[in-house]
Amino acid sequence: MTLNAKAAVVTGSTSGIGLAYARALAAAGADVMINGFGELAQIERERAGIEREFSVRCLYSPADMTRPDEIAAMIDGAAAAFGSVDILINNAGVQFVAPIEDFPVEKWDQIVAINLSAAFHAMRAAIPHMKAKGWGRIVSTASAHSLVASPFKAAYVAAKHGLLGLTKTAALELATAGVTVNCISPGYVWTPLVENQIPDTMKARGLTREAVIADVLLAAQPTKQFVQPSEVAAMAVFLCSDAAKQITGANISMDGGWTAA
Ligand code: NAD
Repeated sequence: MTLNAKAAVVTGSTSGIGLAYARALAAAGADVMINGFGELAQIERERAGIEREFSVRCLYSPADMTRPDEIAAMIDGAAAAFGSVDILINNAGVQFVAPIEDFPVEKWDQIVAINLSAAFHAMRAAIPHMKAKGWGRIVSTASAHSLVASPFKAAYVAAKHGLLGLTKTAALELATAGVTVNCISPGYVWTPLVENQIPDTMKARGLTREAVIADVLLAAQPTKQFVQPSEVAAMAVFLCSDAAKQITGANISMDGGWTAA
């Protein structure tokens, strides 16, 4: 599988699933623009590491996914530097948990902006580059919450359902342009964010580490195993391949059977 001479932009790729996408696309030969927040020295280590390890170009954009102007500038910057934007991975996402009547309005606005509207703004800027080449791949990280709800996650669930609707619409608009548009919907993915919740939950509930994982974190995930970031990234690389050119408008569940129930 080679993505040599392809250029990718991955939003929210300074950690977790996004970083796994960036590394997997680079391993397949693509130049990559990474994006997201974090400690600049650490981001620079990741960026330089990707260039060294995979012999591709890797650039960093600090664009804030709540800012349409910065999103457009990020895509234009990647196109100017790499010569095109062939692959767009919409991955940046945040979460906040509260009942609707107590949900802070600014948290609603922030989650909808980052988890949904940013994908629209990035697509809007990237699609002309893809159409011009007659080839493109757009992959968004949705979630099991694009298909089912959980209480207290109103903004996240609404945004992820919306991201699926945006994906289907874009797939139809681009069906004859050589551009596929899909989303991947993971269940619980093993990231530092998840791992860090374990000690506190063990203490709060008086449970062993194994019980916290199986009965609390993975209560809804029938395999009782986490999805790995590398598995989500491998699916994205496959969706970028020629073998996947008839997959468009799809929502690929990787949730250990969660949404089969
Ligand atoms: P993470 O917190 O490790 O990564 C989120 C990334 O988004 C980081 O790089 C962060 O800097 C970036 N980001 C946040 N706000 C931003 C902003 N305003 N502008 C630019 N970048 C910003 O989380 P993750 O678990 O890797 O999540 C990545 C995606 O996967 C999200 O869309 C999330 O909803 C989705 N997802 C995660 C899980 C899971 O269990 N971890 C499950 C399903 C879906």
